[in-house]
Amino acid sequence: MYSIEQTDKQLLHSTAGIRYHLHFEYANRHVVRVVMEVDVAESGNLVLGLPVWIPGSYKIRDYISTLGSFSLTNRDGKPLQWQWLSKNRLEVAAEQGVLRIEYMYFAYEKDSTIRSSHVTRAHAFLNLVTCCLFVEGREQEVHHVHFHHDRSRWKSVSTSLSPVREETLAGEALVLGALNYDILVDSPVEIGNHFVTSFECQGSIVETAIAYRGNFHPEWLQERIKTIVETEARIFGGLPFDRYVFIIHLFPGMRGGGLEHARSSVNAMDSWGDTAKLHRLLSLLVHEFLHVWNVKRIRPRELGPFDYNRENYTRMLWLVEGATSYYDDHLTYRCGFYTRADYLKILSKDHLSPFFRQPGRNEATIKDNSFQAWVKLYLPHEDSLNRNVSYYLHGGLVFLCLDLWIIAESKGTKRLDDGFRALWAMYKQRPELGITEEEFIEAVEGATGVAIRENLLTWLNGKGDDLPITMLFARCGLQWKETASAEMVKIGEDIPTMPTLPKPFTGLTLKTDGGRLIVTQVEDYSPAFEAGIGADDEIIFVNSSRCTSADELDVLLAKRGENTPSELVISSDTGMVTLSLTPKKMPDFALTVREDAREEEKTLLEYWLQR
Ligand SMILES: [Zn+2]
Repeated sequence: MYSIEQTDKQLLHSTAGIRYHLHFEYANRHVVRVVMEVDVAESGNLVLGLPVWIPGSYKIRDYISTLGSFSLTNRDGKPLQWQWLSKNRLEVAAEQGVLRIEYMYFAYEKDSTIRSSHVTRAHAFLNLVTCCLFVEGREQEVHHVHFHHDRSRWKSVSTSLSPVREETLAGEALVLGALNYDILVDSPVEIGNHFVTSFECQGSIVETAIAYRGNFHPEWLQERIKTIVETEARIFGGLPFDRYVFIIHLFPGMRGGGLEHARSSVNAMDSWGDTAKLHRLLSLLVHEFLHVWNVKRIRPRELGPFDYNRENYTRMLWLVEGATSYYDDHLTYRCGFYTRADYLKILSKDHLSPFFRQPGRNEATIKDNSFQAWVKLYLPHEDSLNRNVSYYLHGGLVFLCLDLWIIAESKGTKRLDDGFRALWAMYKQRPELGITEEEFIEAVEGATGVAIRENLLTWLNGKGDDLPITMLFARCGLQWKETASAEMVKIGEDIPTMPTLPKPFTGLTLKTDGGRLIVTQVEDYSPAFEAGIGADDEIIFVNSSRCTSADELDVLLAKRGENTPSELVISSDTGMVTLSLTPKKMPDFALTVREDAREEEKTLLEYWLQR
């Protein structure tokens, strides 16, 4: 039976017929030596495999490509017959006793460590899904991992894997365990000299493991994490684990992102923080922690148990990532990390504007974009913005609409939280089984007394522009509309910044590469699209002036003004081309409280924004 629930007590003094020994003598070369032992009761063929993907990130990653130098022997070192069955599965003629498999793992993903591993002289961060083979048919057994690192050099190990022994003596390997393979590969591990601390909340232990370099104050972050845990525990009425680990990587230049697990999460962010980055980090932590409930436990039927050999398709990522994306900034506000004005601004700038500016929002339903996540969101190209939109962005607005709808229809007595509490109660009754779209609707309608079926199905089966955002905002006294002018930025003691020309809208996304200004994306039906500019074109001259950066292009176009053609000389595969580009006014929207909002509208607004 599928289960991702485990408590530390369950593993103490346990034994395992499947054991992995991880050796780190080649850490400087980013290589981990893995020795796997499998107890074999009876001689016969065994199939072993490595997952091709990691749950939570819907992309085929073929981790097997980083494993090599396989040696399969019996207990006495006698080589055994074996062969590959497919790219990620092998079959071995195992003999009674112990099957021993040794291999080398290159553990060095530079760009996207949250979904893979990163082993260096300084630390070892491991996603075991990338290096621990499963034994087909024995996934439900207890699995142990023996960590053979030099504990005088790397002092701390942070993971939701559970200790098998009460204490580890000097010279012994640290042994940690999982009740089954799903839990094993849902438990990333950070080993090194990172900042470690913990606190108790509602009888559970929450650990924080921060590996960082830069101007960060881990104690400051720890205090915010406490607030996040308490706020989310209040919504669901408690914490569904005995222990949880926040693994946080903060390094200069690091790409931001997170990955959720049942009793832990991995969160990464560039460490040189300004206020906007700190907001994004807190919102990321809120997001990943909410996944404790939404996706790890309350989940679409297709997402657990998993098939590790192929894509696991679901049409319901609108629930998994949509609700979590709506709640991430909403709960960051409810945690007290944003003011009300901050929240309305972030909602407008980071959620509404990017969605309603993206031409691809009307090209496919959110259910199709969810189903095709494997080849759409996770395999983007230069034209993606015109053909689809992220189900994070789209789904977040579906749940914004749903929350506002429930609040308005219940006259400010029910909200989305009530629906999620009902879904949580449903999980507790049958944790082995995910939910369907129909069950989601029934649970939310049952808990709130508000009919959501017709609206929700219209939004899920329709286009981006079918979301009635403006109407729903109006019901609680808000307006989202184009602003007359950009707000004035000040420096020092209230000194206004220099007047600048308004940024024109072209529909171009640009990058500079060795002093060359290159087009990376062109929005459909934008001025650049009308001008005939394409991805990979290089912009050389604008109105006879040399142009080498995006900012310079803005200035050169703005000098002529909106709706006035400018002449661009472009280098492309046919040679030099001269084109005429007529920029438009950059749309600038703001979400504000209407001055003429009625009392009942203000009451709904207060209910939506109560902390
Ligand atoms: Zn997420």
